[in-house]
Amino acid sequence: MIPYGRQDIRKQDIDKVAEVLTSDFLTQGPVVSEFESAVREYCGAKYSLALNSATSALHAACVALELGSGDYLWTTPITFVASSNCGLLCNAKVDFVDIDRETNNLCPIELRKKLEKAKLEGRLPKVVVIVHLAGLPCQMKEIFELSKEYNFKIIEDASHAIGGEYFEDKIGSCAYSDFTVFSFHPVKIITTGEGGMLLSNQQTLIEKASLFACHGVTRDSKKMTKEPDGSWYYQMISLGHNFRMSDIHAALGVSQFSRLDEYIGRRHEIADFYDDQLVCLPIQLPLRKAPYYSGLHLYVIRLQLNKLDKSHTEIFEELRAKGVGVNLHYIPINTQPYYLDMGFTGQECPNALAYYSEAISLPMYPSITDEQLAKVVAVLKEVLR
Ligand SMILES: *Cc1c(COP(=O)(O)O)cnc(C)c1O
Repeated sequence: MIPYGRQDIRKQDIDKVAEVLTSDFLTQGPVVSEFESAVREYCGAKYSLALNSATSALHAACVALELGSGDYLWTTPITFVASSNCGLLCNAKVDFVDIDRETNNLCPIELRKKLEKAKLEGRLPKVVVIVHLAGLPCQMKEIFELSKEYNFKIIEDASHAIGGEYFEDKIGSCAYSDFTVFSFHPVKIITTGEGGMLLSNQQTLIEKASLFACHGVTRDSKKMTKEPDGSWYYQMISLGHNFRMSDIHAALGVSQFSRLDEYIGRRHEIADFYDDQLVCLPIQLPLRKAPYYSGLHLYVIRLQLNKLDKSHTEIFEELRAKGVGVNLHYIPINTQPYYLDMGFTGQECPNALAYYSEAISLPMYPSITDEQLAKVVAVLKEVLR
């Protein structure tokens, strides 16, 4: 089966990891900072914090923004559950803004409508998590304007979008957000095995996130409630977790990151091929349009079911049966049983439901071969005929 995504591990990655394994530090050593500065400089953000997952990064970002009980976090329903669970983990309430039918991203027009209504009801969100789905940047300028008008903070869940660009900025610059989150899970654009990163241009925010990610413990005497007992002294000033990334993981990250532009270039080559080969089929292709430069973590097609005599499920299962490992990103979060138990009906976002009934992620990863790509196209044409 041709998978929908796959990591690319080379000898230089293995050598870099092996170097750490025989060094003085397996964790809390120099390679984590090396990885943090490489990503920060590339993205043009002021601060960065490597963590053990994007899920941890989202949680730490919400804590730094002081999201708590009585507050609302809004996000898109078409994302991985981590994008909204970070709100629940802070005891906040969560709500969903419908997507745009062309970009599949959180729709700024729907957002404005929902904000106007929430303002009247006194239920405005404190934090909005936007997701650059499949790597395609969201309409950040529009969302940023709304954040000023309605006074909410923005977290960019850019788990799919490292290497992408929005106008003249790299994703991760935080030009229109308080935080950006990257994921380095093996199916994502670059990997550390498990891992994530938080970027921000605001020092106090990244410091708060960092404190939460490291037990709430400080060695900075200015932050302590009393004079240190001695040079060994550390003080716990709040409650936290251990969300740190190890140097072993960071070594893989540094090595993978050095090939980021190569990977993004290859992903665009693959997308060019798919665009060209699939344009005549009854499907909606992913939007690729300047000034949006997608990281292309995923290549999601949408079936035009009114022009097809098979169902979405039939097409999906036939593709898999013929060796094309398609997937579906994602099930609308407000239809998950856990969320239904919280009072969602699952019917809140019609565009998200339509997306869920039509979307299929095709194989997309740098090491896919030309023969494999040809097979994906041939099988898809046969199944949709
Ligand atoms: C993968 C993913 C996450 C979670 O990333 P982890 O690093 O596995 O915690 C969060 N949000 C989105 C959109 C993702 O795709």
